[in-house]
Amino acid sequence: MMKKVKEILSTYDYEIDFYIREDKVVFLKGEVNKWQEVVDIGHKVAAVKGVRNIVNDITSKDITVKTEDNKKQIQEALKGNVTECDVLIIGGGVSGCAIAHAFGKYDLKTIVVEKNSDIGTEATKANNGNIHPGLLAKYGTLKAKLNLKGNKMYTDWAKDLDFELQRPGSLVVFYEEKHKKQFDAMRLLKRTGLGYFIKPAKQMMRTPGLKWLTAKEVKEMEPNIKGEPLGGFWMTTMGIVEPFEVVYALSENAIDNGVEFKMNTKVLAIQTEGNIHRVITNSGIYKTKTIINAAGVYADKIAEMVNDKFYTIHARRGAIAILDKSRKGFINRPTGVVKSGGNKNSKGGGASLTPEGNFLWGPTAKEVYDREDKSVEAADMEYILALGQSVTDEVKKNEIIQFFAGIRAADYREDFIIEKSRTVNGFIHVAGIQSPGLAAAPAIAEMVEKIYKKDHKLKVKENYIKTRKRTPIFRELSHEVQDKLIQQNPKYGRIICRCEMITEGEILDAIHAPIPATSLDAVKRRSRAGMGRCQSGFCGPKVLEIIARELEIPLTEVTLKGKDTEILERENR
Ligand SMILES: Cc1cc2nc3c(=O)[nH]c(=O)nc-3n(C[C@H](O)[C@H](O)[C@H](O)COP(=O)(O)OP(=O)(O)OC[C@H]3O[C@@H](n4cnc5c(N)ncnc54)[C@H](O)[C@@H]3O)c2cc1C
Repeated sequence: MMKKVKEILSTYDYEIDFYIREDKVVFLKGEVNKWQEVVDIGHKVAAVKGVRNIVNDITSKDITVKTEDNKKQIQEALKGNVTECDVLIIGGGVSGCAIAHAFGKYDLKTIVVEKNSDIGTEATKANNGNIHPGLLAKYGTLKAKLNLKGNKMYTDWAKDLDFELQRPGSLVVFYEEKHKKQFDAMRLLKRTGLGYFIKPAKQMMRTPGLKWLTAKEVKEMEPNIKGEPLGGFWMTTMGIVEPFEVVYALSENAIDNGVEFKMNTKVLAIQTEGNIHRVITNSGIYKTKTIINAAGVYADKIAEMVNDKFYTIHARRGAIAILDKSRKGFINRPTGVVKSGGNKNSKGGGASLTPEGNFLWGPTAKEVYDREDKSVEAADMEYILALGQSVTDEVKKNEIIQFFAGIRAADYREDFIIEKSRTVNGFIHVAGIQSPGLAAAPAIAEMVEKIYKKDHKLKVKENYIKTRKRTPIFRELSHEVQDKLIQQNPKYGRIICRCEMITEGEILDAIHAPIPATSLDAVKRRSRAGMGRCQSGFCGPKVLEIIARELEIPLTEVTLKGKDTEILERENR
């Protein structure tokens, strides 16, 4: 292993130091010219046989390293109140919320701490909402295993937790003869069972619901796709969800079962003595025997706080365009086109859709140093446009209503890291949860539950509540039910968002939800007010007034997405 790592580093014209720890973790240090080189070196070393993972402390000249000195903040925080709990989950993304939902079953005091003002506001809100079938995850990885399992588990999740899951499957189409031959070969491997003996085909053999389509069948299924494809491949188990609906559903059920969620609570440091951790946050101290680290792109920083950093997260930004619903039904399932080459770190992308019927074009995949860099560059836009228009060129650029970007929390082995710390008692890593983290979430939570169960005797709560019911979605109800609802609460009779037909009653439901929506964006995600073509242009000021009124705060204190994002500077009349 030593020889191989040396060999890799010798191909670069830089002084890079490394050492290999007993547990086969490789530590890298040095300086190179470009950030992409840092990432490339990391990947190459992590791929060496036997390497457990790598801590990549190489810097590059094209970036300014940000160091956060929070000593003063920690000193202040140490004076905070102490709350005790059995399990503390760090991070309220889909991983943290899924784990909270699973732990809600047991007689435990479980708390989730989330640094932002709402749950699901990082990678979890910025994805394609695809419940991937599992075919494209690399065979033998944890990602691949949990993707296959998680995909299946979504059916029960959606039923029990009352969120929308559609399973239109996803379609891949091809236009070139060489691709047709490849797909024919895959079909043969699947049909004969020979694929079980060929490594690149092994994941396909384990993925259910694969169907090979003729050119005619493709056109019948999707008459609006571009040109004359030679055939297609339908992964029938692919699902689509609205990811934030999933986290609200999970958290609300967890809260019904006694789990507490603490928003605006950022973990700054962890002090560990024997079996007890004191987790220091900007709003108090949490004393706990078990920490579950589901901090997304900051999971390695949290691991460092307990001296168990054996991986480095590198940020891979993905940008997506959302189109309005006027094209609903134009394409009926996530669809991509087989191209030669492609990006090995992305699932390819193309034209996806939300359960509501908005198209999602993208995503891109770009390595960025800054974990907060959610910008969308002109090059991203061009790439996204080309992706969408490779599926259909009838849909035009001006149908895009918004671009957004999220950060994939990748480690250098490009796999999930879900394990109990080998050196610290009561610490579970849930890191490297990049795509398909949303699809795998139920299986991730189940795995964490099993790890915890091995060391603890657990009792299911006597009054455990298995199901959750969502608040009314006015536009989906029959006129009779709408009438009844308005009679009970006239606020359901006042439309605030005209594009999406969202009533004041639904906005109030969002603001007074178990995890209250306290910002414009949080109300938008929960109720859809502002998600339409005008993107809040019309309803934004009204929603702002409703938030101020309900929270009893001045208009100038209402934010777009939490602290430091106030919308109005002053009131002028
Ligand atoms: C562009 C893009 C497209 C994608 N498409 C798909 C897809 O279609 N299907 C799919 O399965 N997956 C997809 N993914 C991946 C998926 O979004 C992620 O795997 C998943 O959301 C990860 O969830 P998480 O909870 O682990 O992380 P996150 O959602 O990032 O949550 C981590 C949470 O931890 C909090 N946190 C961090 N540090 C601290 C701290 N110090 N104290 C307190 N809280 C803290 C953060 O604020 C955050 O809320 C995509 C990702 C991207 C970026």
